[in-house]
Amino acid sequence: MCGIFGITDNKDAARLAYIGLFTLQHRGQESAGMVSDDGTALRHYNAMGLVNEVFTGEVLEGLKGRGVIGHIRYSTTGSSHIKNAQPLVLDSCLGQVAVAHNGNLTNADRLKESLQKRGAIFQSTSDSEVILHLAARYRGRTLEDTLARNLPKLAGSYSFLFMAPGKVIGARDPHGYRPLVLGKLGKSYILASETCAIDVAGGKTIREIEPGEMVVISGGKATFRRFAPAKRLTRCIFEQVYFARPDAVVAGRTVQSARYEIGALLARELKHIKADLVSGVPDSGTVYALGYSEESWIPYQSIFMRNHYTGRSFIQPDQQLREFTAHLKLAPVKDLIKGKSIVLVDDSLVRGTTSREIVKSLRSAGARKIVMAIASPPIISPCYFGIDTPNREELIANRLGVDKIRKFIGADELHYLSLESLVKACGSGRDENFCASCFTGRYNR
Ligand code: AMP
Repeated sequence: MCGIFGITDNKDAARLAYIGLFTLQHRGQESAGMVSDDGTALRHYNAMGLVNEVFTGEVLEGLKGRGVIGHIRYSTTGSSHIKNAQPLVLDSCLGQVAVAHNGNLTNADRLKESLQKRGAIFQSTSDSEVILHLAARYRGRTLEDTLARNLPKLAGSYSFLFMAPGKVIGARDPHGYRPLVLGKLGKSYILASETCAIDVAGGKTIREIEPGEMVVISGGKATFRRFAPAKRLTRCIFEQVYFARPDAVVAGRTVQSARYEIGALLARELKHIKADLVSGVPDSGTVYALGYSEESWIPYQSIFMRNHYTGRSFIQPDQQLREFTAHLKLAPVKDLIKGKSIVLVDDSLVRGTTSREIVKSLRSAGARKIVMAIASPPIISPCYFGIDTPNREELIANRLGVDKIRKFIGADELHYLSLESLVKACGSGRDENFCASCFTGRYNR
């Protein structure tokens, strides 16, 4: 997962890109970068850290120009290292070209090997660099022709922003796994991973970039072209389950309202359960629990104090750090918990680290009964399209059945939502297709 944001034709481009990236910070916390275009040359600045740490006033000053593309990284392919921070900039026979990528290219290794055999020298270990080397080798008349010729060689998921002097190009893979939306702010165009970044920057969303579509923004105009026929749309359902910000609009409705409905559907599936209170694992579990509470008539209580300064525990790159951050992050409000039977809702259970820590702390606060209710199905299969679950063995539902998982996390009961209910709420009744391979083990080609 990563977040991307680009803006054209604006005297405050770097400042607005800062706002956009800051709004997308939940999509990645390892590194941040921007490339600016002053019409003749690109300048760039990447560093490890959060947006507000990386971009000081002085750094923003240096990013001169009326166009900027930016990126925040959450490493999936390639290690957590500054040389993999994006945007990447390459000086080649194409001139200066920058790329910011959200997604995961499943044939990157093969392509890279064959490019290296023909002399390409890679600067990073990230999969995203492949497209620039392909582009440098198989050129068309313009950058957009070059990309249109080379993007179909990529497999996997991608939403890309490219920049060359005088031009910003956005492209989305033919399945539309990862999001990319287009917006407008006065005469400026904005491309972003989520609509909320356009909103906070003060713009208006126009529409999603379609699967297999490219938008070329140059000379104040946006032109659209297809570089591949759209395959069946299979947007990643995990965007709604966990990743996207609640105020982002995905598939025609805000993520918040989809999550509320998912919570209600979960309550409907678990209507036999009685409890004193329902609560959510903050922050992402909270809205599901509110939906659950309304549907079940079980009162909602906020039983955890969330420390907001720890960041997202899952995004920490190793297990020890993850456990410690989960513990630091959530503290129980003891007198609301003591002697109570509790339905605790979380969006997903991946390795079981969070649930186990939380159940432990509820027990030590004196909970009488703990029913863990997960607002998505068991994750049985790794994601090859950009969500950070690359190792099958790490997925607890791949190794253990529901009862053994329940024992592992220490809850009295454990329930998951059906895929049918999840799809129903995320599609808001429309004919939306999703990639749910993490829940089904079935992958699109
Ligand atoms: P785990 O602790 O490994 O079971 O992971 C589940 C918790 O991490 C839940 O509280 C989710 O909110 C969150 N989560 C689930 N999937 C992801 C992901 N791919 N990246 C970051 N956080 C996640």
